[in-house]
Amino acid sequence: MSGRKSVAPAAVPGASRAPVLRMEAVRKSFGGSLVLREVDLEVAPHTVTALIGASGSGKSTLLRCANLLEEVDDGAIWLDGEEITDPRADKDAVRRRIGVVFQAYNLFPHLTVLENITLAPRRVHGLSRAEAEERGRALLERLALGTKADEYPDRLSGGQQQRAAIVRALAVRPRLLLLDEITAALDPELVGEVLALVREVKDEGMTMVIATHEMVFAREVADQVCFLDAGVVLERGTPQEVFGSPRQERTQRFLRRFA
Ligand code: ADP
Ligand code: MG
Repeated sequence: MSGRKSVAPAAVPGASRAPVLRMEAVRKSFGGSLVLREVDLEVAPHTVTALIGASGSGKSTLLRCANLLEEVDDGAIWLDGEEITDPRADKDAVRRRIGVVFQAYNLFPHLTVLENITLAPRRVHGLSRAEAEERGRALLERLALGTKADEYPDRLSGGQQQRAAIVRALAVRPRLLLLDEITAALDPELVGEVLALVREVKDEGMTMVIATHEMVFAREVADQVCFLDAGVVLERGTPQEVFGSPRQERTQRFLRRFA
């Protein structure tokens, strides 16, 4: 990546090894059913954490709590050492430091790709139109979407739309990027190009937490894998540990489905 500008913001001086995201004993329930139980998580700078587990195991809820889209019932979450679950924390400011991409419907259909990408930098981060467009076009160019800047989303393939959604999330130079099953709604032949972009974003140093059913991808790209089962991080470790020699019977059973 020589000569290329990183998408990741400069590390906070003196805090470069401190976790970007930390969760401690996070609990979340919906209508009496406990969806996250005592979840602990630590995400080091410039690393990728993959959340795997069956549907309903709590992956999306974990990501939504990290982004303050859901309020935790108990426990605490820190972003760069700041407790963001503190009632006095500025939730909007926190969300501005975290990029999120969901499974689908990420782009505004009535705006071009470039307009989608420049919206938050202009409205939320106060960049001028010229600055935001220059930055947006450069980012699109670099991530192989340069020719799509002035297209509307419905003129793009599903894979291109998700790539544009990732670019939009990166345009505000977030501290942390959360990706929730971003390839789950895509035709199989479009999955590869989206995952290739995520790899590239990782190579540029972005810190990410990724909920995914793409086990081969998780194994290749993740530094840390967490297996969620009924709201508990039942097993965690390196991809070699979790995929290569899972200790828990439930993890083994889950992974057999992908073998
Ligand atoms: P995953 O992403 O692993 O499929 P989720 O975090 O979406 O799991 O869901 C975990 C559990 O929480 C599921 O049983 C789901 O039905 C429930 N759940 C998630 N969001 C809500 C909500 N807003 N209201 C009620 N139940 C919810
Ligand atoms: Mg989910």
